[in-house]
Amino acid sequence: MHRRPLGLEAALRIRAKKWLVGACLGVTASCAVCSAGAADWRPPDAEQRQLAHDLFKQLVEINTTDSVGNTTVAAQAMADRLLAAGFPPADVQVLGPDPRKGNLVARYRGARNSRLRPILIIAHLDVVEAAREDWTTDPFQFVEKNGFYYGRGTQDMKDSDAIAVADFVRLKREGYVPDRDIILALTADEEAGRFNGVAWLLANHPDLIAAEYALNPDAGGVWTEGGKPVSVEIEATEKLYADFVLSATNVGGHSSLPRPDNAIYHVVDALAKLERTPFPVDLNPVTREYLARIAVGAPAGEAADLRGALEVPPDPAAIARLSEDAHYNATLRTTCVATLLRGGHAPNALPQHAEANVNCRILPGHSAEEIRRDLERLFDDPKLAIRYRSEATGLSDQAPATKAMAPPPLQPQIMAALTQLSARMWPGAAVIPIMEAGASDSIHTMSAGIPSYGVNGVAIERDDVRAHGKDERVGVESFYAGLQFYYEFLVTLTTR
Ligand SMILES: [Zn+2]
Repeated sequence: MHRRPLGLEAALRIRAKKWLVGACLGVTASCAVCSAGAADWRPPDAEQRQLAHDLFKQLVEINTTDSVGNTTVAAQAMADRLLAAGFPPADVQVLGPDPRKGNLVARYRGARNSRLRPILIIAHLDVVEAAREDWTTDPFQFVEKNGFYYGRGTQDMKDSDAIAVADFVRLKREGYVPDRDIILALTADEEAGRFNGVAWLLANHPDLIAAEYALNPDAGGVWTEGGKPVSVEIEATEKLYADFVLSATNVGGHSSLPRPDNAIYHVVDALAKLERTPFPVDLNPVTREYLARIAVGAPAGEAADLRGALEVPPDPAAIARLSEDAHYNATLRTTCVATLLRGGHAPNALPQHAEANVNCRILPGHSAEEIRRDLERLFDDPKLAIRYRSEATGLSDQAPATKAMAPPPLQPQIMAALTQLSARMWPGAAVIPIMEAGASDSIHTMSAGIPSYGVNGVAIERDDVRAHGKDERVGVESFYAGLQFYYEFLVTLTTR
């Protein structure tokens, strides 16, 4: 399990650049070709809207924070909705390792005798903590105001939980029979806590969620600027999160008599080496495609650099320029950066201990242990310990050897469904495969060998990312478009 600390992880997506607005990617460079046509889709009807609204409200008003919340209550509430819609009890289960950390697994049965393996949808039920005094509204009340729904989880990701359940109910009511099973897993402890639901299900009930591939609405998504759709992202791979603690100890002594070795210097020397030594550039099929698509609409100089980065071997001058941009830098390579520093115990004493935290975002296909050894080689200092830190297990001399799965190929069926639907719902927006610099639960399904794709149809204004923050909100109409999107997306993927 690669838990990560609370923070803005989920919001830290490698995102399309600003100048993508109005650019025509994936088509020829002539802008006559890409001038956005009118949207062409039918919004959900009043009954479907009402159902999705009620589910969304119900979920937001069930507190699912790690501190005092309960995902079992939310999982059971959604299970009850599915049972009421006619799902057989054997196909709807609430299960988990802890009474407060339940997960829902529901199976929508496909055609009998289907040889196709199921599609799995994973979505987390838990939310980040929210303090009433920080918010304008009560974070655990579902409030509609000025065209937005407010409440903790409205962006991350109770909107998607509600959409998935509402679409399951709608498909069932319509008597739809997919060409294969569709499994929905609504799970605990993605944001925080010790009982990550996806990891637990994979370890304890792998058959329940075995699938050809997974869809995770926690990543990817539609970005708008000034209400205009700009890009539709599909997250096709993720970096792996790892914390390392560098530490040095020393007998210390009186600061009037400095010794040749000093715990603080050992740590600081190592950090200085780290600062000067970036990891090598290492592109994968997803980041190559991403850079190629971005290059189409980029200003001339930047486009030339992006193409230079795609050469084999890459052009070093282009890499150097692109690396100055934090966003490109994170796309090109594994990054490790100092994030915490501590040392010494008195102004007039030699330090007996010094330590720093180094946070790494590791490219898929590499393990945390591999990176720990890279750091060991780079620092080349026997006085310095480099240990792996995880929330679950504390400090250890070695890091996990599990690698984030190398990026799977972008499945043509998924890309085709997304591109076609996107052209109808958000004409003119570029469909872009991305690598997530943060991490989501897809890290678990991917390391279990299930290719996982972040796809989400709820449009968010680029400057209005409020996941994990105060006054989290989502546009009312964005939500219902997302409802229709997933309905059509699932039907397209499961109709031959
Ligand atoms: Zn999330």
